[in-house]
Amino acid sequence: MSRSFAQLARTAENQKSSIAVSKEPLNKPPLEIYTLGNEVLRQSGHHISKVDCSIRDLAKDMLRSMYSAKGIGLAAPQVGIEKRIIVIDLDIENPATPPVVIINPKIISSSASIETYEEGCLSIPGVYLDVIRPSSIKLSFRDEMGRPKKMNADGLMSRCIQHEIDHLNGVLFVDRVNDKNELKKALQENGFNAKDVQTPPVNTE
Ligand SMILES: [Zn+2]
Repeated sequence: MSRSFAQLARTAENQKSSIAVSKEPLNKPPLEIYTLGNEVLRQSGHHISKVDCSIRDLAKDMLRSMYSAKGIGLAAPQVGIEKRIIVIDLDIENPATPPVVIINPKIISSSASIETYEEGCLSIPGVYLDVIRPSSIKLSFRDEMGRPKKMNADGLMSRCIQHEIDHLNGVLFVDRVNDKNELKKALQENGFNAKDVQTPPVNTE
C-alpha cells in the first residue's frame, strides 16, 4: 500500500515537471528584487546540490516576481538568495509558452563571433545600454526536476543566459558596458550611483 502510494506520488511528481505559473502581474510579488547599490547583487550563488520541492517553489516565486516586473530573466541573487538558479521566459505575453529553469549552469563553450546588443536589468530599472558578448553558447545545467540537460543557445536566449549567469557570479551588465560616458549618464538619470559599477573579471561563466 505504502509502496504503491509512493509510486503514485512519484508519477504525479514526474507529470508535473512543468513549473509554469500564471504570468499575470501581481500587486504584491512574493520576492523583492534588489537594485544596483545593494550588496546582495555582488554575492555569488552557491551550487544547488539537491533539486527538490523547495527549489521548485523558489523558481515559482522567482517567476511570479519576474512576470510582475515584466522581465524576461531573473537570477536568485537578485532576490537576495545565494543559489545558482535562473528563470527565463522570452515570451511573457503568451501564457502557453513554458518558462525555462536553469540550475547550476556551466558554459561549455562560447562562439568566437561576438554581438553588440542593448541590455536592461530588473535590478537597474530604466538603464538600457549596449554590451558585447559571444553570439552563441553551449551550456550544461539541471532543469527543475534535477535532470541534467545540455542546450545550444543563440540570439536573445544566448544573451539572456549570459546576463543571468553573470548575476550568479555577482557581475552586472553595467560592469561590461564599454561606453563609460553613456553609462554614467544613464545611471545618473535613473538615480543610480556610478560608484556601484565594478570591473568585471576577465573570465566568468
Ligand atoms: Zn539582470
